[in-house]
Amino acid sequence: MKIGILGGGQLAQMMAIEGKAQGHEFMFLSDDPHSCAAPFGELVCASFDDTRAQDRLAKWADVITYEFENVPIETVKRLESSVTLHPSFSALSVARDRLLEKRLFRTLKIPTAEFYSIDSLEQLENAYTSMAQAAILKTRTQGYDGKGQVVISDPEQLSSAWQKIGEVPCILESKVNFKREISIIAARTRSGDIEYYPLSENIHSEGILRLSTSITDDAFQAQAEDLVSRLLNHLDYVGVIALELFQVGDELFANEFAPRVHNTGHWTIEGSNTSQFSNHINAICGLPLGKTTVPYTAGMINLIGSLPSAECISKIPNATLHTYGKEDRPGRKVGHITLLSDTVPANEAFNASIKTLLQIAAECDLANSIP
Ligand code: AMP
Repeated sequence: MKIGILGGGQLAQMMAIEGKAQGHEFMFLSDDPHSCAAPFGELVCASFDDTRAQDRLAKWADVITYEFENVPIETVKRLESSVTLHPSFSALSVARDRLLEKRLFRTLKIPTAEFYSIDSLEQLENAYTSMAQAAILKTRTQGYDGKGQVVISDPEQLSSAWQKIGEVPCILESKVNFKREISIIAARTRSGDIEYYPLSENIHSEGILRLSTSITDDAFQAQAEDLVSRLLNHLDYVGVIALELFQVGDELFANEFAPRVHNTGHWTIEGSNTSQFSNHINAICGLPLGKTTVPYTAGMINLIGSLPSAECISKIPNATLHTYGKEDRPGRKVGHITLLSDTVPANEAFNASIKTLLQIAAECDLANSIP
């Protein structure tokens, strides 16, 4: 099939690599002439709101998808009126607005941190007072990788937090004392079949994901599957979804969902029978899903800023280096490494290699102060 993607970054690139192996063709719409997905299809280099470029993509493609939720919503709405597009405009509208997202979680009885809608400093002061604990102020839209967030732990910080966030519509959330951050990735077809991947346990630092590890037979798997299935069925969702969760005691709290392939599922390329990228393509093309059986423990380490040498990674058994073809830049995701352990749960050698790889990634991180 002919698949159009809004965006030309590493997520589009990995969808195209997997999709081309399945016989599909790709076209990307991106305003970046250096889009790293470009070698894997045709690049239409134009602004997302350029209607001629949109029409070119719509005329060519059998189906359109997107790689990030900050794509202009009007573009998605317009394209959906003329060509098959998944996940739908309505799913994207909720996912890109933290208030609508949290309200939907509440409607579906998916637990969340306490939250309030904030449109003024006065509302912020009232909400913080009734919460009576540390909180996080988050912009409703355009936040990612910890951007668009301010932690508030003292009433004296309210006014500066409101200014720092840019005095834009926000939500105030209670700061959750979580035991673990986990995510569940699932895929749903047009006819409603769902496949779930094993949970990923995720470690962030400075708001950026550093490490994801697959957890086979986690005690919270069934609970996470139940929560994400409510979302998938309510939205009549088609494609891959990622639901980010906090484990708080015996309960899971939803943080947010991403209507797309997700960084915490990159390990599925080597670690699962069918990767998240392949299953996203299957779902949006109306094809059956591949099995998400995971015979290994898999770990994924993000490379932020710059890359290690391929030689250095090749010396670590069962490690695979993925490079996105992007130029080095502090804070930029330029690649990742997947590590497999053939035992479940992982063995000592796997844990030792993860430590080594995290050290290598820290040395590549141009924003890291480690000399
Ligand atoms: P987000 O952009 O919402 O995914 O937040 C980025 C990171 O900030 C999360 O992965 C958590 O580590 C942390 N975080 C976000 N919301 C909360 C919360 N309500 N309580 C505690 N930590 C949070």
